[in-house]
Amino acid sequence: MINRPLSYVTVGVAVPVAALLLLAVLGGIYRGSDAALGLLVLGLIGVAIMLARNLRLLVAWARQPIGTPAPQGEGLWGGVFDEIGERLQRECEVKERLSAELGRFQQAALAMPDGVIYLAEDDLIEWMNPMAEQHFDLDRRKDVRRPLPNLIRQPEFLAYLAAHNYAEPLTMRSLRRRDRTLQVQVIAFAGNRRMVLSRDVSQLERLETMRRDFVANVSHELRTPLTVVGGFLETLIDGMNDFSREEAVHYLTLASEQSNRMQRLIEELLTLSALETGAPAQVDERVDAAALVEEVFRETDLLSAGRHQVSLVLEGGGVLLGSRKELHSAFSNLASNAVRYTPAGGHVEIGWRSGEEGGEYWVKDDGIGIDAVHIPRLTERFYRVDRGRSRETGGTGLGLAIVKHIVTRHQGELVVDSELGSGSRFAMRFPPARVRLD
Ligand code: ADP
Repeated sequence: MINRPLSYVTVGVAVPVAALLLLAVLGGIYRGSDAALGLLVLGLIGVAIMLARNLRLLVAWARQPIGTPAPQGEGLWGGVFDEIGERLQRECEVKERLSAELGRFQQAALAMPDGVIYLAEDDLIEWMNPMAEQHFDLDRRKDVRRPLPNLIRQPEFLAYLAAHNYAEPLTMRSLRRRDRTLQVQVIAFAGNRRMVLSRDVSQLERLETMRRDFVANVSHELRTPLTVVGGFLETLIDGMNDFSREEAVHYLTLASEQSNRMQRLIEELLTLSALETGAPAQVDERVDAAALVEEVFRETDLLSAGRHQVSLVLEGGGVLLGSRKELHSAFSNLASNAVRYTPAGGHVEIGWRSGEEGGEYWVKDDGIGIDAVHIPRLTERFYRVDRGRSRETGGTGLGLAIVKHIVTRHQGELVVDSELGSGSRFAMRFPPARVRLD
């Protein structure tokens, strides 16, 4: 390859000069030395003109943008230009390929859900993606070429960066947004370059906290009745001969109530876990809405045992598409809450209405009501406004969590209106796609 341009130069310059000399020698032999000199001068002028023209072409081409096709050189110069042109073209293609690859790589890094910061020597920021800007409140336009430790000043981060031991990631709280938890991992590469990867793990952390709370809550809920049952049994064993039959029955009844409570709790936990892990309610049973609501009304009347005025309102019937078992469980949960949280003498209204806008099941009571601050949290597992009252009435704190799951699985929503001291209205609203009016 190195020889080719050289051979072009040899041929492009040496051949005309040799031909000229030969012409001069022949002129000298046949016509004398003056003629030889004249021919030589003429030839040299011709060669100089050709060289000048080709050089002009070369200079004009060099001024064009890279990639402009080679000019048509005269004689062997044409080959020389083509050779240079091809070489430039190849280099151009390599550059284009490299810059396309770099572009793709940058696009991938820009779209990454994790933050990426490239650090040059002395911890200078060389490049960062938008996610890194968000995580650390940085600004690409201002902060590139600035030292990262000047911008993220949290002591734990500075210590991690300086320690050069990046086997484990660092979990840190964002300074400016305290609700954000970041997991940061530094990767050293290519000698003294480093890459800082960051991931927002706030959601994961929240889930982990919820899981821990849940385990603590379940243990607590089970421990209380278990302690009571254990206590009664010990009392009975200790005083086996001292207790009358009535007293023994009394203690055993109390123990049995507690064991029922534990059973109910476990059943509701299993229901909740099945609802949480199960896919959205695909069961499209055709449930006769009015018949189901009437059934719940009768059960509620029995549960109230004459302590409340329970009434039924039906405004339109229709068919609800969904799981009958789940819908029954949610409807009766709301109805039994109304009975449990409404003092004797109160009213409980159970109703269903359907129309073009979908269907609504509601339970209205004039019971104790709920302060507005509690309403957003009612569907959390084990959330109770009044723990004592919930327990007294056999509550587990899981009912509304189950209702919320069921209504969501049916693409509906739970709407709660309540006022402390005046009563509550709980409604499950279903979209038109779930309600058939014919
Ligand atoms: P619980 O088993 O404790 O009743 P739920 O999940 O069914 O659990 O309800 C959560 C809390 O919401 C209850 O502890 C109670 O404080 C409140 N609540 C539910 N329904 C009513 C209602 N109709 N009237 C007043 N408070 C209610």
